[in-house]
Amino acid sequence: MNCVPRKLTLDEWDARYADLQREGLREPSYGGPLRRHVSQDRDLRLRQLRFDSSAASLRLWNFLLTENERLAQARAQGDKIVGAMKDLGTVPVMAYSLPGVRAFYPDGAWWTPCLMECSDGLLQQAETFGIDASFCPVRAMLAAFQNGEHFPRPDLLICSTGAICDDFSAIAQRLENTGFPILWWEMPRRREPEPREPACVLPGNLSAPQVQVECVREELARLCKVLGDLAGQPLDSDALAAGIRQANRVRRLLAALRQAVYGAPGVPLPALEMLIVEMLAIHFCSDREETIRVLTELLAEVHERLRRGQSILSEEAIRVFWVNPVADLRAMNLLEDWGGRIAGSDYMFTHALDLIPEDLPPLEALARTALADPMVGSALDRARRIVADCRACRAEAVVVSRIPGASHCAHEGAIVRRLVREELELPSIELEIPPICDAMLPTLSSRVQGLLETARANRQRANR
Ligand code: SF4
Repeated sequence: MNCVPRKLTLDEWDARYADLQREGLREPSYGGPLRRHVSQDRDLRLRQLRFDSSAASLRLWNFLLTENERLAQARAQGDKIVGAMKDLGTVPVMAYSLPGVRAFYPDGAWWTPCLMECSDGLLQQAETFGIDASFCPVRAMLAAFQNGEHFPRPDLLICSTGAICDDFSAIAQRLENTGFPILWWEMPRRREPEPREPACVLPGNLSAPQVQVECVREELARLCKVLGDLAGQPLDSDALAAGIRQANRVRRLLAALRQAVYGAPGVPLPALEMLIVEMLAIHFCSDREETIRVLTELLAEVHERLRRGQSILSEEAIRVFWVNPVADLRAMNLLEDWGGRIAGSDYMFTHALDLIPEDLPPLEALARTALADPMVGSALDRARRIVADCRACRAEAVVVSRIPGASHCAHEGAIVRRLVREELELPSIELEIPPICDAMLPTLSSRVQGLLETARANRQRANR
């Protein structure tokens, strides 16, 4: 079933799918041709994307694009649905520790305008609730809750507050005002411990005052009680420890994939599929066990390509570290078209990639991991980690992609770029990617290609 790996358009995938079927492709219940996601007038953006040609990637895409249907099926079977908001990776670990409970991020609706090429009207509908384009695209979530067409109404909505951006805080409060009760939990802004103040080590080479870890631990204990009540059985330490071990299975698979793909001389899996892969970390695309199977198959495909010496791109592609997720998924294809490749990433949820400590009491371990969220600490903390990761992945250039309207930190890009320049002398750019970036292609193209040319010249100088 192995063919020379390449990127295929949706049209080319029709023929590839027919070939795979002839060869005896076996698919899970949500399988099928990619085309069907478009023909139902849903994910029109797929017509503009190019996809990896493997059966493992087809499974990944089908898994991603059927999430809402699978959630609806789970609801019909009697499962409880939890909408987790903002923490990106903490509440789902708890929810999936209980049988019959699934968690998803309504925040993910921010990609709906991209996937549906704005035919959904979500961004315009959000404006009727007073949330206009001065807010980031996560405002699509507000309209998706109102029209009920994109995900089932959750049985329980949980949202972190405190150290969160103004956009999300305003949108979530507006949501609650329109009839969607929210269970809020406090996430303090992470700070450096004072001299001689008791402190805790966090994942990601961070530290925080012990009092902050205790605060988060108590908040998570409160959530455990509510989740246990929802499930009809307590979420005790043993159940949570088992849930953490399963979450770490996902995180280990992700680490192996990132290492294999980003570390290889060639490119065994495209940037677009790797972005989707990383997103599975935050809530397992509503099915933790299937996530493990999807990732296992992808890792096997990557290992097989490496064994055969196969690559999607030339080994000359410039190694780029990418900061922040893109509102338009097409940007990942474009980077590769223009001569770059992803060598490392910080898509705003690095704490969901780090292993959760298994040698601590489970709530303590989860509290420390939650506090390692790059978005609850200073931009300088985030920049330091980016520098360390750039060094580790031998990045040659850095792209900070801004999110339109995002308020999380107006100066974050400048701080990241300054540290990258001072510590690593790497070229970098900051650019904005809207939900549909087609109209900006000339600008994006010249800016990204200018960056890649600079990095190429640096490489040639270093090799002389
Ligand atoms: S402002 Fe930034 S952190 Fe806040 S929701 Fe938008 S992208 Fe996320």
